[in-house]
Amino acid sequence: MQASDLFDTALNPSSSPLLGIDLGTTNSLVGVVESGFPILLADEEGSRLTPSAVHYGRDGSVLVGAAALRRRSLEPSRTVTSVKRLIGRRGGEGDWQPPYDLRELGTSPVAVSAEVLKRLKAVAERALEQPVSRAVITVPAYFNDAQRNATKQAGELAGLTVERIVSEPTAAALAYGLDKLADRKKIAVYDLGGGTFDISVLEMREGVFQVLSTAGDTQLGGDDLDRALAAKIAPEGADPARFVEAAEAAKRRLSSEESVRIELPFYDGRNSLSVEVTRAELEKIIRPLVERTRAHCLRALSDAGVKAEELDEVVLVGGSTRIPFVRQHVAQLFGREPNTSQNPDEAVALGAVIQAGILSGSLRNVLLLDVTPLSLGIETFGGLMNVIIPRNTTIPCKAGEMFTNAVANQQDMLIRVLQGERELAKDNWELGRVVVHFPPGAKGSARVGVQFSIDANGILQVLARDTVTGQDTVLEIQNTAVDVDDERVEQMIAESVEHAFEDMNERIWTEAKLKAEELLPSVAAALEQFGDSVTAEERAVIEQAAAEVKVLLEAPVHDAASLKKANAALDDATQELAVRLVEKAMEESLARRGLV
Ligand code: ADP
Ligand code: MG
Repeated sequence: MQASDLFDTALNPSSSPLLGIDLGTTNSLVGVVESGFPILLADEEGSRLTPSAVHYGRDGSVLVGAAALRRRSLEPSRTVTSVKRLIGRRGGEGDWQPPYDLRELGTSPVAVSAEVLKRLKAVAERALEQPVSRAVITVPAYFNDAQRNATKQAGELAGLTVERIVSEPTAAALAYGLDKLADRKKIAVYDLGGGTFDISVLEMREGVFQVLSTAGDTQLGGDDLDRALAAKIAPEGADPARFVEAAEAAKRRLSSEESVRIELPFYDGRNSLSVEVTRAELEKIIRPLVERTRAHCLRALSDAGVKAEELDEVVLVGGSTRIPFVRQHVAQLFGREPNTSQNPDEAVALGAVIQAGILSGSLRNVLLLDVTPLSLGIETFGGLMNVIIPRNTTIPCKAGEMFTNAVANQQDMLIRVLQGERELAKDNWELGRVVVHFPPGAKGSARVGVQFSIDANGILQVLARDTVTGQDTVLEIQNTAVDVDDERVEQMIAESVEHAFEDMNERIWTEAKLKAEELLPSVAAALEQFGDSVTAEERAVIEQAAAEVKVLLEAPVHDAASLKKANAALDDATQELAVRLVEKAMEESLARRGLV
């Protein structure tokens, strides 16, 4: 296989971009792979989070997102939030009573979800300045077929072909780059969002995550923390629901600040509220709620048959895991620090985008994203660089070439493995060398195949095979094939550009020189042996041409073009002689066999 076969031809720029969507209980996000990078798209206000809220006005108007949320306190029964709980009701759990009646509003969970998806589609079309019609959408791991189909239907109602439904923990693991984990490695995804808690244990199997177990609570999330805090700060006799918004804002600030003051002047027209809340106080209030996640985690581990210490990573997902107390609780529960390298409320969406990128071919496979930063090859006769794997080839990859002995009776061949962009072997870096032995024979009788293969980990294996004897010689080069300092790569490329002209001249010169060195002795030998079969005039022309070649060959300045021309002239001048040689040989052979 040639290295070029590995370049992606499935990439189809004419088809519309494939979106990645996290359709969340509280917030939804949309993104796309652009120029090879997964990005999340912002709306006209610069926000990447679209609240999963839809407001149905009395006049038939429909508002989605932040605009809908602003109407919630005025018209709670006309503002639909957390509709995902209605699609995703988990069997056996107490039914959640929403503050709205979907039938009265003339809508359904699927239709509400479709409104949110329409909004995300519009955000994407505005950002990308082109129509979009395809998406990958995430759902909780525990969603059954009916719930997945409902989600798909919502997509179609919004004008999106749903190319794939992906489970949220799998998407999160992709976002955290955990698809690079070795086979059989296990991870836990702890997802505490606005309204739900999910814990999943995943295992990597042949490059694909398997959900080993999932547990959780569709009635436990950040909203509950907000309500608990609101109940605490509400003055005697006041409705705590009034203070939920302020409580949520205070809760968020307490993730980074030690203490905040909540001020609500004349919240009911007469009374004002001004209260100081410290992080320690918040922790005391939310502790019982956060501790409820513990039993679910233990259950998920036991269902998966995995001990906490056997996990390779614990990753955090969901906005509520920004709370320091939640992080501490997770660390203590699993006996290790959780991975917090991604934005927890964006991880699922980012993973959906990566999955979309893989499906559409704009990201091949996250594993395969690595490319060879510089060309890899071997030194060939005359000190030239012979490229086997060109730079920027996606790994893993494999490529090879056949070589032969340049001189008669050669018994071995030194293969120098090189890396770099220069034409001459000496200007490139040597990664290693291997000697291949073969039985002596005529020039060109040996057949040595050299194959380079780079695996997904960037390890280069050089296999040299004597195809006559079947003898293999193997050389393994760790990582250097792919892991090169960016600075050194840039320097190498800059030098190759800078020296492009002289390098090319040197390559042509070397090739011409090899040809001249082969030509001169054979012409001399022919003239000596069969000189009587050419006229004196012809002989003079040949000798003149040969002398020209010799002069150029010995000149201190390498004039590649002239030497090439002189070689061609000598070739031309000896045409007659060559034909006559063949005829003569033929005659002699026939005569020997008594045929003439
Ligand atoms: P979902 O998956 O339910 O759609 P998200 O993952 O977006 O939701 O989480 C939303 C929840 O995260 C809300 O309850 C919000 O208050 C909470 N949240 C967001 N940022 C913070 C923060 N900095 N500190 C504490 N909670 C936060
Ligand atoms: Mg979520």
